[in-house]
Amino acid sequence: MGTNKQTYQFKTEVQQLLKLIINSLYSNQDIFLRELISNASDAIDRLRFRAQTDPDILGGDGEFKIKITADSVNRTIEITDNGVGMTNEEVMENIGTIAKSGTAAFLEAIENSKKERALTPELIGQFGVGFYSSFIVADEVTLLTRAAGTDTAVKWWSKGDGEYAIEEADKESRGTTVILKLREKEEDEKDFTEEWTLRDIIKRHSDFISYPIVMDVEREEPVLDAEGKPIKEDQILDQDGKPMGPEKDKTVKVTKEETLNSMKAIWARDKKDVSDEEYNEFYKHISHDWEDPMERLHFKMEGTTEYSALLYIPSHAPLDLFNVDRRHGVNLYCKRVFIMDDCKELIPEYMRFVKGVVDAADLNLNVSREILQQDRLVRNIRKNMLKKLFERLSGMDEETYDKFYDEFGQVIKEGIHTDFDNRDKISHLIRYKTTRSEDKWVSLKTYVENMKEDQKDIYYITGDNLAALLNSPHLEKLKEKEYEVLLMTDPVDEWVTQSLTEYEGKSFKSAEKGDLDLDDVDEKKKSEFNDLFEFIKSELEDRVKEVKPSTHLNESISCLSGNAYDMSAYMEKILKSSGQSPESAKRILELNMDHPALEGFKALFEADKEDTRLKDYSRLIFDMALISEGGKIDDPADFSKRIGDLMANAMAPTAE
Ligand code: ADP
Repeated sequence: MGTNKQTYQFKTEVQQLLKLIINSLYSNQDIFLRELISNASDAIDRLRFRAQTDPDILGGDGEFKIKITADSVNRTIEITDNGVGMTNEEVMENIGTIAKSGTAAFLEAIENSKKERALTPELIGQFGVGFYSSFIVADEVTLLTRAAGTDTAVKWWSKGDGEYAIEEADKESRGTTVILKLREKEEDEKDFTEEWTLRDIIKRHSDFISYPIVMDVEREEPVLDAEGKPIKEDQILDQDGKPMGPEKDKTVKVTKEETLNSMKAIWARDKKDVSDEEYNEFYKHISHDWEDPMERLHFKMEGTTEYSALLYIPSHAPLDLFNVDRRHGVNLYCKRVFIMDDCKELIPEYMRFVKGVVDAADLNLNVSREILQQDRLVRNIRKNMLKKLFERLSGMDEETYDKFYDEFGQVIKEGIHTDFDNRDKISHLIRYKTTRSEDKWVSLKTYVENMKEDQKDIYYITGDNLAALLNSPHLEKLKEKEYEVLLMTDPVDEWVTQSLTEYEGKSFKSAEKGDLDLDDVDEKKKSEFNDLFEFIKSELEDRVKEVKPSTHLNESISCLSGNAYDMSAYMEKILKSSGQSPESAKRILELNMDHPALEGFKALFEADKEDTRLKDYSRLIFDMALISEGGKIDDPADFSKRIGDLMANAMAPTAE
């Protein structure tokens, strides 16, 4: 022993997390056991999955269980599983870091925020603290593990104080043992080495775990005679022939391994027999979330596609919802036997926040991830479940749905672009803030119901900032007409608008690109401005492809637009921020012919076409248009210098 001992520092985010755990989860001590049992159960699941294609990996030991051992004298608890175990590399990778993307950034934000944030267990639960929750109750944690199919073991240990050590170790069989050296117990705290305390926690949090959770318990048992009847103490006589003891059963102390959980699969039980609490605990086990779910769906399908499903919608979006390699939340079972987790084939990407279990009796047990996609049964289940989810979502009351949409609306919207068959259904689910409703979500149905009598189209504008969109000059004419405009502020909306071209027979129309066709352009006036527009165009040749009278503006002097099929300014921004360099499409400069400044500009131009100010003003008008849509101008310093000059001129006493 003691060979190759290496000491390491925890990653900063783990240190932060440990500090948070120890300081904030004081009143949630129980959950350490749930987390460790959950990990043990996952480890056995994983081994079983591997054994489907490689039965030898079990090495003859297919009797899966999770064993709890408590020692009240030394104040230790051990949680042992005969699951997949970990190699040295896996220990380094999994224990000592936080794999979940986004967590580090989140923790850093908390650390850096000057405000004291209320750190609720729910908030911490989002990190999936799992294994680290051991440190709520323990001041030293040891993990001994041997990966299935290998014969070397690894020991990892830490006092939770910033460093951990790893060394080679001996372990008789595959799997993992976590040994907790419990902290000193305070007067009012539970004693986690007590049998009844452990029983109670396991019953409450881990009853449904599908492997036996066992513990050695000591009981007084009656001593039986040859016929199997209990021997009474008074039947044993002393030398004088008197009974040795009172008339009661003679007993001895025996140690027995007892199973503490019922192992009943929640999803296979009758709905009416499962309590909310049981449902919620099961959710926490499969999702590694600490908070109760927002919704659950539990149903059985019969007929050609037979399966049962228990699905949950979390209360909050996880931190890694937009991470490409995040795990999906639906696990696949066949007759209560775990087949695989992370089953992407069962649920479309745009419902990836759904967690749960699907149990299909007719599934081929040896189904691999590769062939799952082609499996007819799986395809039918997916279709059917999706239908159920749509029904549930569209049947929610407004308040609940708004909450759901706050969390997952951005994800649902992806379906508009990716699921052609269900586009209609998804279009009923999407919501937007609008020029008339800045705070509350508006459905397309409501939008259409509220359309003005003379309004033909559904208007929208895209951009990343709600406030900027609300004040966008592009909307001036529409506001004057009191036409409502959808304010689309998610990158995914750019794809929504490409795919969703109409709703209930009304076309979608960009408020930014293309002409609005609201009023007829005054052709006579337009011809008067023709020469000036040509001049401005030649001045801005590298930036704009056209200068024309605006169909959007009412108060502002200028704005930029595009042809209906041009890339929107927001789309260009999105592509640039994702590292692409889309060819900047030249924009159209729209000018407000009724604006007094433009009138003045025209007068100046007509008086002296060589006036140097004309060049300046052309650039200014362009930059103003760019700024008003939240864009970045090329040379801000030059811009403000020119504004400064203008102000100086305007304020100078008129020298007669
Ligand atoms: P989570 O369980 O949320 O992934 P944990 O911190 O609890 O986070 O565990 C990190 C990883 O360590 C797990 O994903 C798993 O790969 C590994 N692990 C934890 N406990 C065990 C165990 N008992 N057996 C095998 N691997 C384990």
